[in-house]
Amino acid sequence: MLELASFSDSYAEARKKFVEAARRAGAKLASYKHPDERGPGGEALYLDVSVLGPGDASRVFVVGSGTHGIEGYPGSAAQRAWLRGRPRLPKDTAAVFFHAQNPWGFAHKTRVTEENVDLNRNFIDFARPLPANPGYEELHPIIAIRDWSEESIAGVFARLDEFRQRVGEKAFSDAFNGGQYSRQDGVFFGGHRPQWANTAFRGAVEAHLGRARKVSYMDLHTGIGPWCEHIYLCFHPEGSPARERARAWWGERAVNLQGVTHKKLATYSGTIIDAFAEMLPQAEVTSIVVEFGTRPRREMQRASMAQRWMRFEGPRDPVLAAKVRREYEAAFYPVDVEWRKAVLEQSRDFIDRGVAGISSS
Ligand SMILES: [Zn+2]
Repeated sequence: MLELASFSDSYAEARKKFVEAARRAGAKLASYKHPDERGPGGEALYLDVSVLGPGDASRVFVVGSGTHGIEGYPGSAAQRAWLRGRPRLPKDTAAVFFHAQNPWGFAHKTRVTEENVDLNRNFIDFARPLPANPGYEELHPIIAIRDWSEESIAGVFARLDEFRQRVGEKAFSDAFNGGQYSRQDGVFFGGHRPQWANTAFRGAVEAHLGRARKVSYMDLHTGIGPWCEHIYLCFHPEGSPARERARAWWGERAVNLQGVTHKKLATYSGTIIDAFAEMLPQAEVTSIVVEFGTRPRREMQRASMAQRWMRFEGPRDPVLAAKVRREYEAAFYPVDVEWRKAVLEQSRDFIDRGVAGISSS
């Protein structure tokens, strides 16, 4: 049964549903409260962790939602629906769900944290010099539009196209999406210090996974891939045992970028899946990113620019900002019923495959 009631309109609603589903499934819960920030309704914000199965299991399958705040709505629905499906776990195996990894962004319906930071670029070593992204320096003045209009956006895309043709697809992706540490009011800003969500995530990994021997981490996102379909991003090197496990569990599509329209993905810095693996050197780690496709890449780039505009320019024009916000939210969290059914149907299958995979590896 596909329960569309698994989807929520607010962080508070999503959290309540997740916690209820975890309790009913018999999972243990741990919550990490944000010490300073609140949601738009004044609600407290948490990273919640549910542990289904033995707390000392040597094999653990982890599913994370909301690394990119707003993308956590479908991720949360997938987690809740799976927990409500009367899951049966193989021996010595646990399923651990991290709910709302960036709860501020989740509650405020944006990808970033309270400091405009992309959490998925924030897991760098801040004791070392910040990574440079000279390409972004060139793009920032183009992207940072002051007046949002169809004319100005068309102008931005003309200049982005010119840049891409000049430097090539890969360098364009690196510049735009790879992560940058110089412009606090830019897009894909990785931050100047670890975010609270970063620290909370590390604490939760240590507390719940430190004893596991085999761990898989699946991070749920939206925004890459075809409408109503999910795609996999596997960052384990070619030929590595981890990559072969991903292939065995989820099929060839787990490693061949099936469904990804742009094959020249950026080289991302400071991602949560890399941090996860580094934190568990004693374990055999298999990580995978799953994206539910929404809109074409160009519209997603427009949404990234909209997010920046809403935060830094939007307050000057609240009426336009409300319109831009509706478009932005739809890009990461569609209301369409068929899309939501697809999320539930497909996530049940790939989470089941992950659990079976880790238990047999
Ligand atoms: Zn994402």
